Amino acid sequence: MNKQNINVAAWVSLTTTEGPGSRFAMWLQGCPFRCKGCCNQNMLEMREAHVMSIDQAFNLILKEKNTIEGVTFLGGEPMVQAKGLALLAKEIQNIGLSVMVFSGYKYEFLKKGKLPGVLNFLESTDILVDGLYRQDLPETSRRWIGSRNQKLYFLTKRYNEKILQPKKTKVSGAANEHQREMEIRFSSSNDKIVINGWPLSSGFQDPLIEHLHKEGIYLQRKK
Ligand code: SF4
Repeated sequence: MNKQNINVAAWVSLTTTEGPGSRFAMWLQGCPFRCKGCCNQNMLEMREAHVMSIDQAFNLILKEKNTIEGVTFLGGEPMVQAKGLALLAKEIQNIGLSVMVFSGYKYEFLKKGKLPGVLNFLESTDILVDGLYRQDLPETSRRWIGSRNQKLYFLTKRYNEKILQPKKTKVSGAANEHQREMEIRFSSSNDKIVINGWPLSSGFQDPLIEHLHKEGIYLQRKK
């Protein structure tokens, strides 16, 4: 049994916009950075959100084992909680799922091991996307990535560059392939809409959010 806790801002048990294949996405609470245009403002403060043990977090993921190919950790800043996440990531890989991590820290810095647990966390990470979000450098071609300065590292042999290739779409009237994807979730139980997979600066979300607010619909951004 692991005694370490992690502080989770939110999670989605099944998404296709936060990395290769169908994934469980987990956002961590607290980030030391303040990138202009960050769309997870409510996840930046170092406060308690959903504090849970590694075993509790792992059990949430385990329930989805047969429908996902991996887990993606985003922020907030996952590397601030690397000690706990290293344990969780190892358990995730042990059951055959992959691990993807988005971090504002550069890989060069992380490799120095100055943050507690970070080297162990990297050892159990298949894909790392590093670097701060730059609103002035919006990414238009690579899937899942917010800005052009951010780099993607394959830390194991599980994946390669092919996963970045645009996905074909069968939507009538649309281009036959697209680079960026967005998920919009409507919840009938609490009237919330959650958007995954598109940075705030895209110029698309704000008019949508404004329109929905006029209709009295509260909209929550996740990434
Ligand atoms: S974009 Fe990422 S690194 Fe930057 S402030 Fe937001 S959560 Fe932190």
